[in-house]
Amino acid sequence: AIYGEGRGNSQGINLNIQSQWLPLKTAYEGFFNQQWTAAPLVDGQRLEGRVRPVHCPWQRSQQVGEVVWATAEQTTDAISGLQRAFPGWNATPVEQRAAILEKTADLLEQNMPELMALCSREAGKSLQDGIDEVREAVDFCRYYAQQARQRFALISLPGPTGERNELYLQGRGVFACISPWNFPLAIFLGQVAAALVCGNSVVAKPAEQTSLVAMRCVELMHQAGLPKGVLALLPGDGAEVGSVISSDPRIAGAAFTGSTQTAFLISRALAARNAPLAPLVAETGGQNVMLVDSTALPEQVVRDVLHSAFASAGQRCSALRILLLQEDIAGRVLELLGGAMAELQVGDPSRRDTDLGPVIDAEAREALQAHIEEFRSRGRLIAETPLPAGLDGHFVAPVALRLERLDELDREHFGPILHVLTWRSEQLGELLEQVNATGYGLTMGIHSRNEQTVAWIDQRVRVGNLYVNRNQIGAVVGVQPFGGMGLSGTGPKAGGPHYLLRFVTERTRTINT
Ligand code: GLU
Repeated sequence: AIYGEGRGNSQGINLNIQSQWLPLKTAYEGFFNQQWTAAPLVDGQRLEGRVRPVHCPWQRSQQVGEVVWATAEQTTDAISGLQRAFPGWNATPVEQRAAILEKTADLLEQNMPELMALCSREAGKSLQDGIDEVREAVDFCRYYAQQARQRFALISLPGPTGERNELYLQGRGVFACISPWNFPLAIFLGQVAAALVCGNSVVAKPAEQTSLVAMRCVELMHQAGLPKGVLALLPGDGAEVGSVISSDPRIAGAAFTGSTQTAFLISRALAARNAPLAPLVAETGGQNVMLVDSTALPEQVVRDVLHSAFASAGQRCSALRILLLQEDIAGRVLELLGGAMAELQVGDPSRRDTDLGPVIDAEAREALQAHIEEFRSRGRLIAETPLPAGLDGHFVAPVALRLERLDELDREHFGPILHVLTWRSEQLGELLEQVNATGYGLTMGIHSRNEQTVAWIDQRVRVGNLYVNRNQIGAVVGVQPFGGMGLSGTGPKAGGPHYLLRFVTERTRTINT
């Protein structure tokens, strides 16, 4: 394995030390024959409906469980219940709400092998990604609990004698949380935890592909003491359940992570309602570049490119999509990269030495494969990792493809596809303008030993997360608050000190004493 070292949010579990991971892996594999179920969960009650099977993305013949998708009517009724539950929850002391998140974090840790198994069986996550996923979910709970205690403390403001002025926060109402499949636990829970700890009641719609993980997470929140009426889970079709939620006039705010196209739909639906204005916290796609100049260290560049482009099979919105190599260093970097890509291990995500598991489903695989074939037919393939024989799943071989111009790519390709463009020093300014002109602004990597170059780029690029001389994925809660701008989102940073402020209203109270 090229990058099995377990950094960042895996906090303390080192895959290079057998005594640390082996017991965890044994416990995790113990859940591989388990079947899980999900259904609309409203006021703690599982609702009935049409049942759909869930299959494992890397062993397609194996069923992992069953999901009941919510109907439009169930969704509307759930929102009515959440509206009734809101005032009581909003009046609950913040300390109590924060303590429930902390208890949830403890339960996530206690159930780590099962949650990792679910992430692997339903979403194809590798062993390392499963560990990171649970750790990040834990971090979100603890971080937002601590943030809420600070933020909800009453602030005394100055005033004339005989007048008391105070500022404090309150929940907004029923908050919609619409989450993606690529972080089925961490992002799902990150949104829900933030909205709940601020006193909102929450209607949560997980991605179609990962309802089982979401269901288990909600069960653990209930076990942690969350009142049943303040969180409704509505698994289902985005076009149906998602649009019923975002068109409902009673929704007081929405958090969404997913594609830019869906964010537009949600934004339009919220705006078209005959209802009070509602904020949208959107975290969407990226067309993320890594810029490498001739002062960079080729070995380090290659290590960070592999991690940034291919970890999680490239299914992160932070992932590196376009490597921008200065001409003088390109030959050496590409030679090393080709060699390293030949060594990547693609396959069974539960194996310790697997670098890439499958992509999420057949549809994703076909779209990625069509893009690769188009470039291959034009003679643009630079390097490719061989796929082992006999795989039964939605696997895509990692590739590096040559670009001639940045604007050849008109959308994000959400998988293990790296594009490479070379540049000459006199083109740097124009290149940065083109990067900004994509309209996206999520992550950017720079590899350069020249501090002036780094500072110059830093001043010009429009991105949310800039990483210098390291990989550009795996933002850690409270350490690299995460979120972008432009087509990449509305800006709030998940895991950052200002995130909760998007989920609240502010009240000032003036009392004549
Ligand atoms: N926060 C993740 C990272 O830094 C990416 C989140 C996403 O893909 O939505 O890699």
